[in-house]
Amino acid sequence: MTFENLNLIQPLLNAVTRKGYLNPTPIQEKAIPTILQGKDIFGCAQTGTGKTAAFALPILQLLETEKDRNQRRAVRTLILAPTRELVAQISAEIAEYSKGMDLRLVTIYGGISQHAQTQSLQRGVDIIVAAPGRLLDLMNQGFVHLDKVEYLVLDEADRMLDMGFINDIRKITARLPEKRQTMLFSATAPAEIRKLAASLLHNPVQLNLSPDSAPPILVSQSVYHVKKENKKLLLTHVLQNDAVKHVLIFTRTKHGADKVVKDLLRNGIKARAIHGNKSQSARDSALKDFKDRTIRVLVATDVASRGIDVDKLTHVINYEIPEQAETYVHRIGRTGRAGETGAALSFCSADEKAYLKNIHKLIRHDINVVSAHPFTIN
Ligand code: AMP
Repeated sequence: MTFENLNLIQPLLNAVTRKGYLNPTPIQEKAIPTILQGKDIFGCAQTGTGKTAAFALPILQLLETEKDRNQRRAVRTLILAPTRELVAQISAEIAEYSKGMDLRLVTIYGGISQHAQTQSLQRGVDIIVAAPGRLLDLMNQGFVHLDKVEYLVLDEADRMLDMGFINDIRKITARLPEKRQTMLFSATAPAEIRKLAASLLHNPVQLNLSPDSAPPILVSQSVYHVKKENKKLLLTHVLQNDAVKHVLIFTRTKHGADKVVKDLLRNGIKARAIHGNKSQSARDSALKDFKDRTIRVLVATDVASRGIDVDKLTHVINYEIPEQAETYVHRIGRTGRAGETGAALSFCSADEKAYLKNIHKLIRHDINVVSAHPFTIN
């Protein structure tokens, strides 16, 4: 799936290219067409899933393509988020995506003087990104008019609730037109959130994507920069460490998986592969050998690894970096289960750096670089 497949207009395609996004994330794949069709959304998704772009891109497209001259500089989009950091972050992202689109954006939160915010409002804006408290304050002072809002987003709704913003949200939404498109995102869906959703959304499409992008906190992640041809030597080197006890290795291809197993067996390390070209019984027996520790290493392709549930996996090794950032999160989620600590090691060759960059963006933190190894290429 590409962004072109999602029928985004050229300025937005340029924006995602500028940002270096290669492919849409799962939530973007689902949310973008749904929002473009004018439907409400109830999205269960955490930060790090790419959800900001998932709502921002289609909203910008709708604002741009359904431009009504009379409505210019009337607030047509309102985005609410719980904290000033999140508000600032969403706003910065939208500013980047909307470059060259002649849309005005204002960012509203408390803790600073309201002067700059009210000035922007008075000049006329198309999009408001706001924390509920300050927004309501400005509304009560007569600076904000929301009767032309067409798109409403509530981001991290559960956190807004936890922070006691429910009454503010109710007061704000009461001033919006009934006829509008609403998108509500929440990492969790307790009863109160469902109640809020029921009152604000009309026939929403539910998107459930939480586990896709949140790497387990207990997994330490590191990356080894290495030449492609040295990966097999690096693997043997890493496996010399006895602490690397029970290892699931991922390759991108079936052929790659077989090759890794061959190299390992040649070095006296017990390993087997599971992938689509293996019969079900071969896969079952490989998995059984791995589970009962007859073999130390299992090598798998992403498809074949689905549903593998192995306790006490100490390490996941990305022998090849996956093209999809979410796949990385899925892979490393195999270790660090049930409170165990685990480690994810990624072998990155020069041609895979773009994939790694996307992973960083998705998980939003740096991965520790191991440079003290015999095959480093820095
Ligand atoms: P969010 O979940 O919206 O907080 O986004 C998490 C991070 O992922 C942000 O830094 C985005 O810039 C980045 N991001 C969003 N969409 C993509 C994509 N399709 N590919 C790579 N990174 C992305």
